[in-house]
Amino acid sequence: MTTNSPGARTDDADSGRLKVLLERAAGGRDDQAWSDLWTELYHNGSLDVAHPLVLPTLADMADAGNADTAASALHLAGALLVQADQRHETRNLRHRYAPDVTRLLGAANRWRQTTADRNDYCHLLEAVLNLEGDIHWAEDLIWGVVSEEYELECPDPDGCASLWVIIGERGFFSAVEDHARCDDTETFPLQPADPRTLQGLGRRLHDLALTDGHDDVARALTYAFGEATCPECGQRFSIAEQIAARSN
Ligand SMILES: [Zn+2]
Repeated sequence: MTTNSPGARTDDADSGRLKVLLERAAGGRDDQAWSDLWTELYHNGSLDVAHPLVLPTLADMADAGNADTAASALHLAGALLVQADQRHETRNLRHRYAPDVTRLLGAANRWRQTTADRNDYCHLLEAVLNLEGDIHWAEDLIWGVVSEEYELECPDPDGCASLWVIIGERGFFSAVEDHARCDDTETFPLQPADPRTLQGLGRRLHDLALTDGHDDVARALTYAFGEATCPECGQRFSIAEQIAARSN
């Protein structure tokens, strides 16, 4: 860049675009504004996540918005922080906006305790984990609880098989990828973790879900933190460990 003016113009245009989108999102019932924010901040990065409007405004929405607006703001903020951690291999964005991240996390924990909808609750758990920033695979973990299935790889070092793990209304089993939805495919029952012996992250999420009145989510988590059997080689493995391994 040989002159400052093109960059300055771009910054002004970006600020204007961000301001408009964030105001529309904060106003509620504007799915297109949220979709554009996800596209431009998260998916293609055409807007700068480190812009001083982004995390502070999302924190304002999480604090003061209605439940839907707050949930959307928390989901996006958490995802942006984890993406920044992974993309830059530093936690600069978290440090730079530490007070806003603290506000976002406080809001996520408040909304978590009052949300009745199962999927909204799951996404608030995901936001809590993303805002804490201790693991980067919360999205993949929670995705399976919401969609009631995981697509995983057998942990065999030779890459034995891809498989589906089904957790929900269709049952609790693993099956070879291509046949997960066929009636005649061979299925292998999952081994849920015993809630009394769960440890670490599984223990914590299970207890949060029970405390918050989401027994069904707590039960699903005993499976996510339990074991599955590979349909090809018969090896039993930890589902959560494979979720974490896949997202590395
Ligand atoms: Zn296998």
